[in-house]
Amino acid sequence: MRIPAAMLLLFATAFAQDKTTRARAIHATIVGVDSHLDTLQRVLTQNAELGKHVPYGHVDLPRLKAAGMRAPFFALWVPTYFKGAEAVRRTLQLRDAMQRVLDAYPNDIELATNAGEVERITRAAKIAVVLTVEGGHQIADDLAVLHMYHKLGVRSMTLTHFRNNNWADSSTDKPVHDGLTGFGREVVREMNRLGMIVDISHVSDKTFYDTLQVTTKPVIASHSSCRAFSDVPRNMSDDMIRALGRNGGVIGINFGPGFLNQADADTFKKRIGNAVAKDPGLSGHALDEYAAKDYIRDYTEMIPAKATLEDVVRHIDHVVQLAGVDHVGIGSDFDGIGAVPAGLEDISKMPRLTAALLQRGYSEGDVRKILGGNFLRVLRLVTGR
Ligand SMILES: [Zn+2]
Repeated sequence: MRIPAAMLLLFATAFAQDKTTRARAIHATIVGVDSHLDTLQRVLTQNAELGKHVPYGHVDLPRLKAAGMRAPFFALWVPTYFKGAEAVRRTLQLRDAMQRVLDAYPNDIELATNAGEVERITRAAKIAVVLTVEGGHQIADDLAVLHMYHKLGVRSMTLTHFRNNNWADSSTDKPVHDGLTGFGREVVREMNRLGMIVDISHVSDKTFYDTLQVTTKPVIASHSSCRAFSDVPRNMSDDMIRALGRNGGVIGINFGPGFLNQADADTFKKRIGNAVAKDPGLSGHALDEYAAKDYIRDYTEMIPAKATLEDVVRHIDHVVQLAGVDHVGIGSDFDGIGAVPAGLEDISKMPRLTAALLQRGYSEGDVRKILGGNFLRVLRLVTGR
């Protein structure tokens, strides 16, 4: 029997609508985790009022709530041109910006320092924000600084940013330490002891494998994607993804088009090259002003890109095939990327990704793991609660 094309189209449309309805229902009840958001840069440099739904930027509290992304990881990201004590000062400015948000909207957002707190806070219909530090240079080679970040609520740290620091090699710099130094290993052990998640996004391949040898807890790649589809050093090779899976860790897929699609990789490599080379030679408020302009120029206006939502699905599929559905999550890098994939223009579009995953045959249980369950498992294991 031949089914008329018009009829097939009708079935397909009804099927897709059903997935959209199911996706919305899932997002109404999930505790979604996005393991890397740079939204605090907007608060610090532009005084963004996160309590209001605004038509710019990728993330605010109303959009997080509407999308069910109730446990976002907010990064205290300090560019590597802040060095030594200057990097510590900038980290405190970002922590202060976070505090302003917490104090301004006590009914909407609360700091979570373990998985139990995420549960309690989200049950009260609030956003449970988890704080992270992006770049090991921010401890200024001093474990006392790491300890105090922990006291200030930080529960994860990316070991490097775009440049090597004094104890770990970065994926976007020339290797000088052959991975982790002795002190670098000590940092990993101390993070394990404190209950801070070790984040291996940005690190060199050798630093990644050294970290896996030292750590006694699962680690995460908070915002990286697969080299199989975009061969850039910031992404993970198949072997690294398998090793991360064996460690019990999770990779959060980065939505930056250069991370997702080879067609966008060259633009991305150029941008990274520029970022690595920046060294204004300033300090104090002159450096702060430089950093604010730098952020606004690179991350406010989105440039055109080829990547789409389907690319994100491809990356998720790939990790699931290599390591299993327990080892992939979302690490969009929203508010820290200079372009967005079509279909995922901001955090409010997340239900579309869920609809696409359902369409692909993922069960609701799998979707819940990918959208947050996997990262919450690691948070519970590492913090012990
Ligand atoms: Zn980053």
